[in-house]
Amino acid sequence: MTPGIRPLVAGNWKMNGLKASLAQLTAMASQFDAALARNVDLLVCPPATLVQAAAAAAVGSAIAVGGQDCHANASGAHTGDVSAEMLADAGARFVIVGHSERRADHGETDAVVKAKAEAARRAGLVAVVCVGETRAEREAGKTLAVVRGQLEGSIPAGMTAADLVVAYEPVWAIGTGLTPTAADVAEVHAAIRSDLERILGKTESGKLRILYGGSVKPSNAAELMAIENVDGALVGGASLKAEDFMGIAAAYRG
Ligand code: PEP
Repeated sequence: MTPGIRPLVAGNWKMNGLKASLAQLTAMASQFDAALARNVDLLVCPPATLVQAAAAAAVGSAIAVGGQDCHANASGAHTGDVSAEMLADAGARFVIVGHSERRADHGETDAVVKAKAEAARRAGLVAVVCVGETRAEREAGKTLAVVRGQLEGSIPAGMTAADLVVAYEPVWAIGTGLTPTAADVAEVHAAIRSDLERILGKTESGKLRILYGGSVKPSNAAELMAIENVDGALVGGASLKAEDFMGIAAAYRG
């Protein structure tokens, strides 16, 4: 939590979801009442096949829809890829870039992630740039250096709090049920805030949302969201069901 920063709870459905799954989005929308919407923004990032239908299903609610990845180019000979412009055209307002699963499965380097974040800005989308250390890096005491390197390499100059969200996701905490201690989360988020100050300046850094991601669930959300400089969550598994996702968002009920 950071005074003056409006939190964001974002769901990443990963490679899960068929048309029938949009019933969960509709349920989320119906549970996102005005009292909760006063305190938090909600975002759902379904697979690319569902972005357009999800955006249509979310019309009339305050839930935003995003993509999970984009190509750096606007169009061209890139079979199987989706551009930021295409996501925007389908109704997306955000796009996740640099998720650790893309960095690992597709060999995405910081330079590639940076180009994708640029593409998001070009298309008018908010880029959710993910960073985080592996277990080996944490055990070697390299967490802050790894995260700093990823931020410096992945965030284009001149990005602002209006077009960028940063998500700290320790790779070893994703989908494992493990989470860092509150003290560890606080240490990394404070370091990210000061790294962002160096990269983007004090004004933007002071306004930027820094999400925590990695095994967030209804039972640990309130504790994690209360940590200084934690301005919301990026949620994988627990974003697939309305009950779980809204249980996490409920951490922001006044
Ligand atoms: C994620 O994929 O971004 C994530 C945080 O997953 P999970 O919540 O399942 O750990």
